[in-house]
Amino acid sequence: MLIGFVGDVHGRVFHMLAALATWQRRSGRKLDLIAQVGDMGAYPDSERMDAATRSYMSLDPSEGDFARLLRPDAATAAHLTTLQREFLSPIHFIHGNHDDVDWLRSLPPGRDVDPAGFLRYMPGGSVLDISGVQVAFLGGEDQPGTTDDIDNHAFDALMHLEPGSVDVLVTHDAPYGLASGRDGRPQGSKRISALLARLQPAFHIAGHYHHLNGPRQEGMTTSLALSSLVASARWQPDATGLQPGCIAVLDPVAGQLTPVVAAWLSDFPIPVDFETWFEQQSR
Ligand SMILES: [Zn+2]
Repeated sequence: MLIGFVGDVHGRVFHMLAALATWQRRSGRKLDLIAQVGDMGAYPDSERMDAATRSYMSLDPSEGDFARLLRPDAATAAHLTTLQREFLSPIHFIHGNHDDVDWLRSLPPGRDVDPAGFLRYMPGGSVLDISGVQVAFLGGEDQPGTTDDIDNHAFDALMHLEPGSVDVLVTHDAPYGLASGRDGRPQGSKRISALLARLQPAFHIAGHYHHLNGPRQEGMTTSLALSSLVASARWQPDATGLQPGCIAVLDPVAGQLTPVVAAWLSDFPIPVDFETWFEQQSR
């Protein structure tokens, strides 16, 4: 059994689908569960985007692709339906600090967000049982008082679970002190650290900081922060391809958590034009 994880997407959902499909084809294996660590860029339309996302989208229009997955034209819809057959699992995603949280919370639980059935939102505190492996989800950035904050009720619910009852924890924010920011201050969330100390999951996956960090040991837990799928056009204008470490794969039975850093990621031609990519790979 394999669980795949994807870092911050920031709207580039077609890049994400191409990356996951490519990993499955190259490895000859399928992911039984896929989880994404938030900042999907889940805005149903551009009017609801935050100011930062709107300004990044002016540099890279693919940051607005989420809405295109919700409302594909007929040709794209047909290709998405064909591609979806290669996937065993929807992509279970949490919210970050660049998602339309109010809209996500209004969605009916347990249903796919998009017509092709690729995306499924996981409210904070959700726990999935996949072949006996318990996977818990907690979105949000540790910023009390903002809509993007970690949901207190969800945090409390997870803090009340028994230590050892969760095998894999998926969060947007990362443990406190995993790295230092541009201002030299420690990055990460004390609440995420407290949750790891309480639950002691075997594995923890985070995003938000856009750089691969780990796997490293946090007490009893092997913790990994993923790269974002694509480097920011503003901060790293010379970066090419998909970022090494934007995907990781966990074999929970073997106890192996492996970031994908193979050269095909950085060689991946971007921006991904979904129609062109789909036609090339189906030849
Ligand atoms: Zn974030």
